[in-house]
Amino acid sequence: MDRDAARTRWAELVDLVNSARAAYYQHDAPRLSDAEYDALYAELVALEGAHPELASGESPTQTVGGARSEMFEPVEHLQRMYSLDNAFDADELDAWFERVRQGLGSIPPMLCELKIDGLAVDAVYRDGRLATLATRGDGRVGEDVTYNARFIPSVPQVLVAADGVVPRLLEVRGEIFFPVADFERINAEQVDLGLPVFANPRNTAAGSLRQRIDRREDELAAVRAEGRSGDRTAQRIARLESELARAVERLANLRLTVHGIGAVDGVEVVTQSGAYAIMAGLGLPVSDRAAVHGSQEDVRRFVDHYGEHRHDVEHEIDGVVIKVDELALQRQLGETSRAPRWAIAYKYPPEVVRTRLLDIQVNVGRTGRVTPFAVMEPVRVAGSTVSMATLHNAHEVVRKGVLIGDMVFLRKAGDVIPEVLGPVLDERDGSERAFVMPTQCPECGTRLRPEKEGDKDLRCPNARSCPAQVRERVFHVASRAALDIEGLGYKAAVALLECGLIEDEGDLFLLQAEDLLRCDFFTREPARGEDGRQLTENARAMLANLREAAQRPLARILVALSIRHVGGPTAADLARAFPSLDALADASVEDLSAVEGIGPTIAEAVHEWFAEDWHRAVVDKWRRGGVRMADEVRPAGEQPLAGVTVVITGSLEGYTRDSAAEAVTSRGGKVAGSVSKRTDLLIAGENAGSKLDKATSLGVPVVGPAGFAALLDQGVEAALALAGGESDAH
Ligand code: NAD
Repeated sequence: MDRDAARTRWAELVDLVNSARAAYYQHDAPRLSDAEYDALYAELVALEGAHPELASGESPTQTVGGARSEMFEPVEHLQRMYSLDNAFDADELDAWFERVRQGLGSIPPMLCELKIDGLAVDAVYRDGRLATLATRGDGRVGEDVTYNARFIPSVPQVLVAADGVVPRLLEVRGEIFFPVADFERINAEQVDLGLPVFANPRNTAAGSLRQRIDRREDELAAVRAEGRSGDRTAQRIARLESELARAVERLANLRLTVHGIGAVDGVEVVTQSGAYAIMAGLGLPVSDRAAVHGSQEDVRRFVDHYGEHRHDVEHEIDGVVIKVDELALQRQLGETSRAPRWAIAYKYPPEVVRTRLLDIQVNVGRTGRVTPFAVMEPVRVAGSTVSMATLHNAHEVVRKGVLIGDMVFLRKAGDVIPEVLGPVLDERDGSERAFVMPTQCPECGTRLRPEKEGDKDLRCPNARSCPAQVRERVFHVASRAALDIEGLGYKAAVALLECGLIEDEGDLFLLQAEDLLRCDFFTREPARGEDGRQLTENARAMLANLREAAQRPLARILVALSIRHVGGPTAADLARAFPSLDALADASVEDLSAVEGIGPTIAEAVHEWFAEDWHRAVVDKWRRGGVRMADEVRPAGEQPLAGVTVVITGSLEGYTRDSAAEAVTSRGGKVAGSVSKRTDLLIAGENAGSKLDKATSLGVPVVGPAGFAALLDQGVEAALALAGGESDAH
């Protein structure tokens, strides 16, 4: 790039970065995703690397954060606050280690901690009393939010020491954040109140902290002092009171974790980890996940661990921070104008990206629910390419405020289902249009209606023959949760229906090879010597798998029947109480409600399902097709695991996930999906994930494959005897 082109691009990038910073820091309403911002910033750094003459003091690469808002009084920090340099992959992390090695001659012990996605604050305590709480601002001068601190329980107003001696001066740095669970709850409340939802916990934290609560209080006091009576004044007071209460409640949800120290007087601090111990001793909130590691290898393990367990933490993290632990060595390495050389932030891959919302279409589900979904320009996020995301119902589309044609923020966290967060309002050009929810089923033309008055979901009531519902039900029979029939995928389900080989799911188990021969999808050209078209491998497999699937336990058959509200755990409860389909079909609502775990809604749904003629016809056809209609009943004496609840995680040799669960349920035990205090035992196979951590933290006994074998052969006591001691459990 020649100098002129570089200068032009540099000016563009500076503008883009500065305006993104203003939106993010001053207005708490980002316009770009963090990944886009990081990419622009990295381009700017690279350009200045190639053309050092461009890197003037006004470049955002030389400054911290954004400008302060005039809304708050300025507070000068006693010591400067910095940003952090980033490493986006293992090579960049290694390069930082190399710079440290060159600066110090060797790699010293490193403090590793989580990079909390919140906003940085600086708190000054004088003689143990909170003097100021300020935002980072430009690193030298921040915004005074001291008044608000009194509403944030984790910001101590007074420090307390065991020996009664508190430092004369203590300047601490930390992150104010909104826990994810509170964020979700607050957003649900916003919806109920018809208010706009918050984009993410980080912006909610910033928006909650940066409010002038004192002004709201003053306004309320002034209106009260006017002493006027009348409806308008009463309404105004009520509105101000409720706004104030909500603002205070949001502050009360904020949490602080301290992660740095500035000016001190009256206490000796030698290491970063030592500083944390001192702060903890004074009652300041310190993370218990910070750890000092001596080798690069261990640091990498820490990075990898939280990369995998990113969502097991109560707050959002966008990476981990690695700091040279010893303060003397930190000073030796020093800082650039923007960031310390003694620390680095390792950033995890982005989970929020921006993409174009091309269309909103609707899908008719297995139970007739009509769901709008977003069709987007394909975009890579959290390890996969996403082009569709459900929007749940028409209310949700309105709530999110998205228009077709909008640029939208899209989030996909790890394995979690992609979610459209909301529009980027600044990017609208007037060509966008609102989504209109259809009034008739797009597949069969039946008029849509809610099942009950007040339901947000619309349904197509033509359950029996709406092609979309039939197709989804057939496909569901083969799903993993139901009968897990390999070879019967979505395309095969469509082909079976379109070729007229089945009318609905009832005909599936009556299918014969001759039937499939009538449909091109299931056949191939004859090879030499063969007579006529032949069944494909897949078609043969599908037939064989159908025969096998027909013998699955009753609970799975129940799931396959698509009875409303009857998923795996409910089906298991029902099958335990009614070991045959006929017994279940004859059960009254009272009989059904008497079963543990079955509430009136489910009881009625089951009863109503069997009352429908065409449903009974499906059952009859399945009976004729050889589907198992009853479980073998073990006498009570052979139910050694009755009353025992286990959770299974990871893989166990010799078992599939289902067969392991069946081994437990056939002995009368219960298999739960998640670990809780009520779990008697966690069975951890290979590659056990977060459930193992949860069990350990709750004190639930954990066994490995040997414990599982003991459980099945000798009962729960034998298994418990092996808990914790088994090396294969971890
Ligand atoms: P940063 O967020 O990358 O790192 C510095 C900050 O990390 C510190 O100030 C501190 O607040 C925080 N932090 C969290 N946990 C910490 C810990 N354990 N120890 C030390 N610090 C910890 O840098 P920044 O300069 O604050 O912001 C830049 C980042 O902000 C970007 O990478 C981007 O993610 C985001 N950003 C986004 C936009 C946008 O438009 N989306 C605009 C500006 C900034």
